[in-house]
Amino acid sequence: MISAGTRTAGEKAPPVTPLTEAEIRRSFVNCSRGEAKTLTLPKDLDGLDWAEQEVLGWRDPKAPLRGYLVAQVDGETVGIAVRAAESSMSGRTTAMCLLCQTAQPGDAVSLFTARRTGEAGRNGNTVGTYICADLRCSTRVRAEIPPWLSDRDPDEVVAERALELRERVRGFLGSVRRP
Ligand SMILES: [Zn+2]
Repeated sequence: MISAGTRTAGEKAPPVTPLTEAEIRRSFVNCSRGEAKTLTLPKDLDGLDWAEQEVLGWRDPKAPLRGYLVAQVDGETVGIAVRAAESSMSGRTTAMCLLCQTAQPGDAVSLFTARRTGEAGRNGNTVGTYICADLRCSTRVRAEIPPWLSDRDPDEVVAERALELRERVRGFLGSVRRP
């Protein structure tokens, strides 16, 4: 049996299957059922290219600091609610999203915290990380190739970046759910 934590770059990740609105709402692990039921879903769900969603991320247009990440991890769909920091970094500095590892102006990256699941979460425990402020990391691994990778085969670079994104999302979701 292959340990899930030691995937190599050449390995193909399992395909992302399309999710329905109900499946997305059911997937949330760190917010109340009521919140999951009423949160605003992405507008373009039907037109989404699911093959390109290692992580489906979006900000809540009705609750400006809130955002959501949904990913398929080890055959399970897991959604988490995250909250952006109220202060943002300066656009004159450069910051790196720790999920898609794209360097951007500081104001395009935000510190997000996620309430942990279970007892830890009830005690107010959170996990934080720096993520693209719009949470659209899946788009960015395809659209923004770092200059030092620009002389390589673009398809190969995108496949690698997508696989790495999937692994980092998996790690972040794991830290939210760690007992
Ligand atoms: Zn990102």
